[in-house]
Parts: sequence; structure tokens; C-alpha cells
Amino acid sequence: MVKISFPDSSVREFPAGVTGFEVAQSISHNLAKDVLSITVNNCLWDIDRPINENASIKLHKWEDDEGKHAFWHSSAHLMAEAIEALFPGTKFGIGPAIENGFYYDIDPGNGVAITEEDLQKIENKMLELARLKNQFHRSEVSKKEALNFFEKKNDPYKLELISELEDGTISLYKQGEFTDLCRGPHLSNTEPIKAIKVLSLAGAYWRGDEKRKQLTRIYGISFPKQKLLDEYMIRLEEAKKRDHRKLGKELELFTFSQSVGQGLPLWLPKGARLRERLETFLKKVQTKYGYEPVITPHIGQKELYVTSGHYAKYGADSFKPIKTPAEGEEFLLKPMNCPHHCEIYRSKPHSYKDLPIRYAEFGTVYRYEQSGELHGLTRVRGFTQDDAHIFCRPDQLKDEFKKVIDIIFYIFKVLDFKDYIAQISLRDPENNEKYIGSDENWDKAETSIIEACEEKGLKTIIVKGEAAFYGPKLDFMVRDAIGRKWQLGTIQVDYNLPERFELEYVDSDNTMHRPIMIHRAPFGSMERFVAVLIEHTAGKFPLWLTPEQAVILPVSEKFNDYAKKVLNLLNNSEIRAVLDDRNEKIGKKIRDNELKRIPYLLIVGEKEINSEEVSVRRQGEGDKGSMKINEFADFIKQEVEKSLEEIK
Ligand SMILES: [Zn+2]
Ligand SMILES: [Zn+2]
Repeated sequence: MVKISFPDSSVREFPAGVTGFEVAQSISHNLAKDVLSITVNNCLWDIDRPINENASIKLHKWEDDEGKHAFWHSSAHLMAEAIEALFPGTKFGIGPAIENGFYYDIDPGNGVAITEEDLQKIENKMLELARLKNQFHRSEVSKKEALNFFEKKNDPYKLELISELEDGTISLYKQGEFTDLCRGPHLSNTEPIKAIKVLSLAGAYWRGDEKRKQLTRIYGISFPKQKLLDEYMIRLEEAKKRDHRKLGKELELFTFSQSVGQGLPLWLPKGARLRERLETFLKKVQTKYGYEPVITPHIGQKELYVTSGHYAKYGADSFKPIKTPAEGEEFLLKPMNCPHHCEIYRSKPHSYKDLPIRYAEFGTVYRYEQSGELHGLTRVRGFTQDDAHIFCRPDQLKDEFKKVIDIIFYIFKVLDFKDYIAQISLRDPENNEKYIGSDENWDKAETSIIEACEEKGLKTIIVKGEAAFYGPKLDFMVRDAIGRKWQLGTIQVDYNLPERFELEYVDSDNTMHRPIMIHRAPFGSMERFVAVLIEHTAGKFPLWLTPEQAVILPVSEKFNDYAKKVLNLLNNSEIRAVLDDRNEKIGKKIRDNELKRIPYLLIVGEKEINSEEVSVRRQGEGDKGSMKINEFADFIKQEVEKSLEEIK
């Protein structure tokens, strides 16, 4: 018999060799029908894999990420099976599950090209194969057997992958006629895969290396019900409409120039002002929370980053050092602001009474991303972090976390992110030696983070083993208006840089101690945050942030002078208003300006002149009646103030 412990801490005995499916069946028939994968002692497994020793388990259904993962990963194998049937001789790279669906990188061989037209064919073949309800068979093989198999199959990509694996850890999965190198887990058979869409193709370098062969990446998604696929396709359409690259252009927020360089955004006036408003907003909050501004240069001596360890990480794989006429002198474009802030901390001695010290900077950093990885404002080569570094004592850590959480809560409230969750990344308890810093400090820091989140009522998931080697962290994930997840701000504890830069403070007993460093960036970066905001709001920014708050629309040219007067009055009251005095019909002007996502449309004609008023329309809400000009200005100011109100 084996003892199986469940997530609710109950324990039951089963015969050795029991499978996840059988455990589910012992609970209920419905659960057994829905269960897709199982976590056994922290490893993801197939539900039909025998459990031969005592184990703690968790069963996963479609609703769980782990369930979807097994579903989509199995679908990737199914797609490979379909491709092999349609294009014999295809060689396979990797085919993982991703956040939405799966992909497979393939090499169809010389002279064969898979095109958009083939996607439907692949999809049909997948559906046909799925209906065969083939089992996914797992087999554990020796390295030699695995190499033999793929040598015979003539699949160089798999051979390369196997050559890097350790003997005794290799498994194959076979369904129907297709066998893949894979760790699993998989569905027990293809039956649950009821609805499939093969979505798109892209080029992808083998192992992400531009010097190696470009493979064809085929993306797909699958669901246990047609209805779920239909809903997904509608969301995908909506996402296309909200694409920040498209809206950024239409709303004239930013652009890119091949002459300036890929991945280097150029902010247009409207975008720059919007970004300025976001910065002012955050600066104001940070000042209240005791942050002090600092400004540091865009480059630093190579040695600075050797000391910080960033040169090892970004040196060779990023922008190369800049040489100067002076022999041996080398500078690096700043990949991180932290080393500069450490040097500021070092510029004078500190006592325990000075801490915490909080240095904030909108610091621009440069990192070389592969051209294939660049994407609008979300993956760029130069970006500005809303960065700050807090230097504090161990006993202040929890309080500092709580304060940063407060700032993030405020940002989310003002920008209307209602659905968010945070991930706490802790040490791997079985691997304590790979972390820098004392056990005692780590324990303290981890407890501080967990307690800070609890006391703030923040919804969290705790993941062991995800912490960086230099400290635990807290990451915020938001769900946008159409249900997509985005990773935003991070709060990261760091025991490493204070050590490397020999940062110190004098404690109450006159001994020297290292401060703890906290890196934090609530937005992440200005670029990424603006991109997320565009996609979340579909370009309809909150009134306080939007580039243009109101547009004045004279019903005919006769009223242009009055419209100009209204414009001046509003601009003098610091309302961001513009005038549309084109010689167009009023209906067309309304439609055009609604497309520009301007929240208030002010219509002026005969009646308004006589009463010194404007007729107010709110985008998406319709007519709001007439108002005196100064009444309207006050009305806007109040709406702005209210939306920026702090959480009580
Ligand atoms: Zn697999
Ligand atoms: Zn930092």
C-alpha cells in the first residue's frame, strides 16, 4: 500500500501502483472524467502513471494551469503527428505548451515550405487523428536507445537535445504513429482534444540563436469544447483591435525608425506627454512615501559592471563596451541602474538611523534583444524603468514591502486594474547552498514578504525554488479587460549587490553591517506599462492621463470664433482641449473624434453662443446636457481629482 496525501492534508491508502486517474475515480466519477494531469511530490505527471511510493498529490483539471499545460502539450504532439503524416521526413525541434496554446518548431526539409494555406490541412488532420483516441504511451529509455531511435529517424534536432541530457532521465512518448522525446506529462489519450485551431506560422531560429538554422514555428490552440474555442477566437479578434502597436500609431503616441534602429522607440509629442503625466503621478506618490530623486548617466565604466556582476550577464550577450581614445578605457551602456545607485549610497557613511534610504530614478537602460524577440513597446532594446532602490535594515524589510505594496495598490486603483495577483518566489528548500546570504537572513526576508502580503490582504501564490540566487521576490500579475495576464511590477530583495559593493552602515552598537537592498519598479518599465495600458483600455485612457480631454466641435464655420474662445478659456484652466474647425458635417466630426478616443466632445452652435455654454457629449455615454464653460472646466477637474484620490 502507499499513503497518498491530498491538498487538504487528508491522507488515504491505496495499493502500490495506483494511478492519478484511479485516485480521482475513487473520489468521484466526474472528477475522473475531468482530470488532465497530476502533481506527484512537486513533479507534474501523467494521470495514468503508477505511483509506487508515498506521495503528496494534486489533481489538475482544465481550469488549472497545470491541466491546460498537459492538454496543450499533448496537442503539440498531435500537431507533430499530423505534420509528419502530411509532410513525411519533417524534422522536429521543440514543441512546448505556452500561455495560450502551443507551438512546434519544425524543419520540413529541403525544398519543402509550409505556408498559410497548409494550416487548415494540418488542423483537419489533427481533428481526424484526435478522434482515433490514441493513447499517449510513456517509455523510459537509456540515452543510447534514445540516440539510436532518432538517428534512425534522422532527426538532428532531437539528437542534439538528447546529447545534452543525462542518462537515466530520458523518456519518450508515443501516440499513434508518432514518437517524441519528452518529459511529459500528457493526457491519457487524444479524446479530450475536441476543438482545434492552427493559428499561424513564424520563423524561429533553432535554440533562439541567429547563427543557426531558421525553423518554421507553427502556433495552435485547442480546447475540450467547441464553445471555448469560439470564445477564444472572439477574444483574439478583440486583442487584435487593441494591439498597442496598431493603436500607438493611430493615436500618434510612438513610432519606430529603421534609421534609428530596431527596438528603440521614438515617443511622439502625445505619447511623451502621456508618459510625463505617468511619471509625475508616480513621483508625487513616491515623494509622499519618502523616496528621494537621483539622476545617473546612461553609461558607466566597464569595471563598475564587473563589480556588480552585470557584465557577466549582459557584457558579451548585449551591447558591447564603448571604447574611447584613451588606451584601455571602456564604458558600457547601462543595462541596470542598481550599480549607480550603490555608488551613490557609498558616497557617504551611513548610520542605522539614516535607514531606510530610498533612491528613485526614471533610469533608461539598454539591453540587446534578438531582433526576432522585439515586439512593439513590450520587448525593446532601450527602455526606462521606474526604478528605485531601498537600502534598509533587516528589521525594516517588512514595513518597506508593505509600503511598496501600498504604492502598487494605488497605481492599480487609479488605472483601473481590478484583477491582480502576486507571486512570492522563495528558495528551493532542497538546494539551500546555491543562494547567497545567510539562512537566517533568508528566513527573515521570506517571512517578512509573506506577512506583508497577508497584512495587506494581497492575493498571492507562493512558489518555492523561483527566487533569484540573491534574494526572494514578489511579482505582480494583472489581468486586463479581456482576460489576458501581464506581468508588471516586481519587488526584489538583494543580498548580493550590498556584498559586492561593500555597502555598510554603523549599527547602534557601533559595529558595521550590510544594509539589505530592495529593487522595485511598480510599472516595470514605462514602455511596457504604456503598452499594457493601451491594450487594457483599448486606447481609452482615464481622463487624467489621456492626451486630449476634450474637443470642441463648431456645428459650422460661423461658430469658429466662439469655439476658439472656448478653447482659450479651457486651455487657460489647464484643460487639455483641442479644436476641430474643419469644414465638415458635425456628424462626421463626432465620429472622427470618437475614433481618436477623446473623452469629451463639446458641440457649439447658435444656442451655445447665446447662453455662453457648451453642449457636452461623453464618449460611450452620450449627451450630458449644456454647461457654462467654467462649469465644464470645474467638472473635468473634479472628475480628475476624484480618480486620483488615494485609498483610505
Ligand atoms: Zn511532450
Ligand atoms: Zn535594481
